[in-house]
Amino acid sequence: MDLLNTLVDKGLRREPLSRAEALAVLGTSDDDLLDVVAAAGKVRRHWFGRRVKLNYLVNLKSGLCPEDCSYCSQRLGSTAGILKYTWLKPDEASRAAAAGLAGGAKRVCLVASGRGPTDRDVDRVAGTIKAIKEENEGVEVCACLGLLSDGQAERLREAGADAYNHNLNTSESTYGEITTTHTYADRVDTVQKAHAAGLSACSGLIAGMGETDEDLVDVVFSLRELDPDSVPVNFLIPFEGTPLAKEWNLTPQRCLRILAMVRFVCPDVEVRIAGGREVHLRTMQPLALHLANSIFLGDYLTSEGQAGKADLEMIADAGFEVEGADQVTLPEHRAAGGGCGSHESRGGCGAHEDGGCGSHEGGGCGAHEGGGVCGSADATATAAPTAAPQAGEARTDLVAVRRRGAGTDLAPNA
Ligand code: SF4
Repeated sequence: MDLLNTLVDKGLRREPLSRAEALAVLGTSDDDLLDVVAAAGKVRRHWFGRRVKLNYLVNLKSGLCPEDCSYCSQRLGSTAGILKYTWLKPDEASRAAAAGLAGGAKRVCLVASGRGPTDRDVDRVAGTIKAIKEENEGVEVCACLGLLSDGQAERLREAGADAYNHNLNTSESTYGEITTTHTYADRVDTVQKAHAAGLSACSGLIAGMGETDEDLVDVVFSLRELDPDSVPVNFLIPFEGTPLAKEWNLTPQRCLRILAMVRFVCPDVEVRIAGGREVHLRTMQPLALHLANSIFLGDYLTSEGQAGKADLEMIADAGFEVEGADQVTLPEHRAAGGGCGSHESRGGCGAHEDGGCGSHEGGGCGAHEGGGVCGSADATATAAPTAAPQAGEARTDLVAVRRRGAGTDLAPNA
């Protein structure tokens, strides 16, 4: 396909795509899907080889948020049965982080629900960052605390944070339909504050909220303008108890096309598969590794992922390798601070940051109390034989509220 040859050439040269080209990727047919994956995979391997960066989420504060982000299980008025707790103590957070690092993660993402931190909250998180860094040499730490006020990004940087995550989530034109308690401009402002403070910026999106192809291209082009080092791509987990509970409109093929489009538009950026990986890509997850170079290990903020061991096996079986702590994630030109945009010398961790957390959604939680773990043997062993699920149908059977790890007495999944 001429289109794909053109996009590979552009990706290898870091040349910008046109909107029409990005839309064309989303408009390809299922018959062309493997060609699309193969083409975007060439770009992925050119900049990131076969490495997969593992990131580990620690939910420092869960639920009880006054904001109304429609996709989020922690939102105002959510009736999702998620864990609710206030700030973890530094030693509790450090223990959770250590489990993820022992499982192969090189970055820890510290996330807290809420509109944004108070200065006291920032001090609290600074103590947690210090505890984690003292006990885990070389670990990258990303904070995801919501909207930042003046001076807070600098304070986090001084405390040792390498990165800051705040997602744009969706296009500017539809943002007001998703959230009313803050604006798209607020989100852009926080990403810019993180950049300006020398933190590696992480900002991404959520697909599957009823948006159009044009919306998806809009948000990815806006992200390209912001020039984050990492772009987490969340696939909406439609939690029961949230306004988007019925938005089951993704297929594995659609998810792969979205990831391919993001890779072509942001060829040399860490593209991370975030929340919804197991729920929406399902058995197609290994193909997605040809597009993204980063995933979350284990569980999400409020929902359970597949077993950490299964993540590692999938990476090995697909012919990829877990990125080591001594390997730099980003290509040399970005790690040095040049980037494909305008942000010079941002310092940061040279690898940079997370996605997942994003805006605290982290993919959202689940709706199923005491249910099986996504993708685990438990989730399927007791199910009666049924007809094969149809593409795009609700897969609430794959959504499980997180009941282990941070905020519980049970060991984390890592
Ligand atoms: S995404 Fe963040 S700000 Fe929005 S409701 Fe969820 S926790 Fe609150």
